[in-house]
Amino acid sequence: MWESTFRVDIRQGFRLPFPTMLTIPLARLEREGTLELQAAIPPDDPSWEGTELRFSAPLAISGKAQWLTSGEVLVRASIRGRMGLECRRCLDPVEVPVEEEVTLLFVPPGEGGEEEEEARLLPQGTGDLELGAAIREEVILALWPFALCKPDCRGLCPRCGVNLNEETCQCSSEELDPRWDALRALNEERD
Ligand SMILES: [Zn+2]
Ligand SMILES: [Zn+2]
Repeated sequence: MWESTFRVDIRQGFRLPFPTMLTIPLARLEREGTLELQAAIPPDDPSWEGTELRFSAPLAISGKAQWLTSGEVLVRASIRGRMGLECRRCLDPVEVPVEEEVTLLFVPPGEGGEEEEEARLLPQGTGDLELGAAIREEVILALWPFALCKPDCRGLCPRCGVNLNEETCQCSSEELDPRWDALRALNEERD
């Protein structure tokens, strides 16, 4: 029931007041074993300042935090949203879906060591575990800007700069022969 409501809300632009912060109360997690995570990070969240990431919709995060018997906390979450990019060939704006699964392991401070390089540290005591920074890092690593407006985008003419999806330029007959590309690359290397 909750599942389907959640999906509908994503499509409608997430108007429900979901929290931006992803906070896990550790004492409660230890008591209950698992806790559900539901959150949305708005496109204008300060988290994205200083990054290349431009989201066209809130980033929806849903998943589970699990208390392991070892005192470690395992978080699995899926991240869904839409991101605005520039086509890497013609520089037109494109929108791509964001679909990432993340797994985060948090270990108590003073434990772990070298064999758990992937793990992050839990805060001291039984306060709150703030997931915002970890999720932000995962998103930034996963979403390296890389997109095409369409699979066969013709890009910009490397000579005159016209958008070859929209018009043909005088230099195009020469550009289409891949042997010229190889030759030009050689010449450019020499310059
Ligand atoms: Zn393009
Ligand atoms: Zn041209």
